[in-house]
Amino acid sequence: MKVIIIGGVAGGATAAARLRRLDERLDIVLLERGGYLSYANCGLPYYIGGVITEREELFRQSVEGFSSKYKVDSRVYSEVIAINPDKKQVKIKDLQKEEEYTESYDKLLISTGAFPIRLPIPGIENERIFTLRDVCDTDQIKDFICKNKPKKALVVGAGFIGLEMVENLHKLGLNVSIVQREDQVMLPLDPGMAAIVHQTLEENQILVYLENEVKEFKTEGERFLVHLKKGEILETDLVIMSVGVRPEVNLAKDAGLKIGELGGIEVNKYLQTSDQDIYAVGDAVEVTNLVTKKQALIALAGPANKQGRIVADNIVLGNQSQYKGSIGTSIAQVFDRVVAVAGSSSKVLNAEKIAHYQLYFHGQCHAEYYPNALPVTVKLNFSKDKGTILGAQVIGTRGITDTINLFAEAIRKEDTIYDLQEIEHAYAPPFSSAKHIVNIAGYIGENILTGRVKVIQWHELTQENPEGLYIIDVRPLFRYEESHVKGAHHIPVENLREHLLDIPKDKKVVLYCDVGYNAYLGTQILRNNGFDNVYNLSGGYRVYTTATKDYFK
Ligand code: FAD
Repeated sequence: MKVIIIGGVAGGATAAARLRRLDERLDIVLLERGGYLSYANCGLPYYIGGVITEREELFRQSVEGFSSKYKVDSRVYSEVIAINPDKKQVKIKDLQKEEEYTESYDKLLISTGAFPIRLPIPGIENERIFTLRDVCDTDQIKDFICKNKPKKALVVGAGFIGLEMVENLHKLGLNVSIVQREDQVMLPLDPGMAAIVHQTLEENQILVYLENEVKEFKTEGERFLVHLKKGEILETDLVIMSVGVRPEVNLAKDAGLKIGELGGIEVNKYLQTSDQDIYAVGDAVEVTNLVTKKQALIALAGPANKQGRIVADNIVLGNQSQYKGSIGTSIAQVFDRVVAVAGSSSKVLNAEKIAHYQLYFHGQCHAEYYPNALPVTVKLNFSKDKGTILGAQVIGTRGITDTINLFAEAIRKEDTIYDLQEIEHAYAPPFSSAKHIVNIAGYIGENILTGRVKVIQWHELTQENPEGLYIIDVRPLFRYEESHVKGAHHIPVENLREHLLDIPKDKKVVLYCDVGYNAYLGTQILRNNGFDNVYNLSGGYRVYTTATKDYFK
């Protein structure tokens, strides 16, 4: 059997290696338009920023090494320009020799990835505007920086890759700004969590133009100017466009394969396209979002690699392995913070009309008494009916991967907040706490689900009519005096019992402390003394102040 694979990086190279491990006799042809196979595209921003110092580090496998190790006929600089499903042939252009030829296949795998969007903005063809997808783009950016020694950079689009570029350009000493169309960076985060990233960016002197767009790029003599929709004119030396990616599906479309509504190749659970001899994986395909059960485009390395392996199994062993879907688990470093998400944000859940509770929670990366315990902020979304975990967002400095991965597994398995309580983890003081963050999130979730605690979110508090509210700051006096929620009364948690007669029963009573725990104690004191309409401000004053602050002014 002869298998042709189009695309030789994450999904394609994984499939090729697995195919060979399963069957020594297969004829495997790997066709890659670029000059490299199976390289570390996720490492490209860090090579640009000089964190990865040697270019060779990006290439864990040479073309020759990969080809001989796996007995794969790997052809780089070979672009597939057409697929003929009827004849089971692909047409290939040898980009070095400028020659075209055809190859036949028994099974074909499309792993062509996704390309960065270049918005049709006047002046977009300027040579100082870059996108980042592959080694060639990386070399161009690196080369431009070496030759021109830019002092300023503008990143358009503040997703994960955009922010990685911000950090790496900043590391090189550039003065970096961001333009973002929405009112927050990192769209998979809910606004209260995105505010922590805003704070981090501000701390690092990154200016972000939110709810703004580029209208035009212009050169005036030596000056390169970026005109924004709201009227600002920014002078910069280089621009990185990082406004998202689109599945690379032209080949599939021209071959008559079904394309989904989101623009990705349609595949079944075996990752077969509408032609049973053609499979597709990675950024180019649509998959099921396991939370919303809707189609989704998930451009991440983990899913692409897993899908590559599944397709190899299905080609050699017959359709046995299924790809069930993804929850978009991802993580990024933004200066000294680590930002991770899994599952759906509250924004998405609201749009999908999935009834859910939200909770914010602050923990520590390890036992509080052990030196250098650093804060971790968690946002959890769970269903109102059974408490099924629907989404988790975690921001901190250390231990974030561990926490998001536990949440991710819970989301994937449709676990509830009760299951979170049972997760058994490894504990010693330098690494975690006797109760892991996910356990505590489960306990808080249970209190909310069972009605033991009512929570109010920071944005709900800002929207409430102050007339109907009685807000109590239960923190120590000096904290209250430093700053507090407008209109809040000060009653420390220890003194609440003495002030029961001062607290109205006909108003919505909202308690808050710094992180949520003391206010929780306060809500229980009031509850046990006959108050029904009592709420804890979720995530406490810490979330409230971070989320309501106006950054980048
Ligand atoms: P790719 O790995 O992109 O491979 C597609 C290949 O197909 C390309 O090399 C392309 O040249 C080739 N190709 C396309 N068309 C043709 C054709 N007609 N003929 C021949 N060859 C063709 N994901 C994460 O999970 N974590 C990260 O930290 C992360 N960081 C990233 C940083 C950057 C800068 C980028 C660009 C991506 C990052 N990603 C990250 C995303 C991740 O790299 C992709 O999700 C993953 O590589 C997708 O795998 P794929 O096989 O679908 O496509």
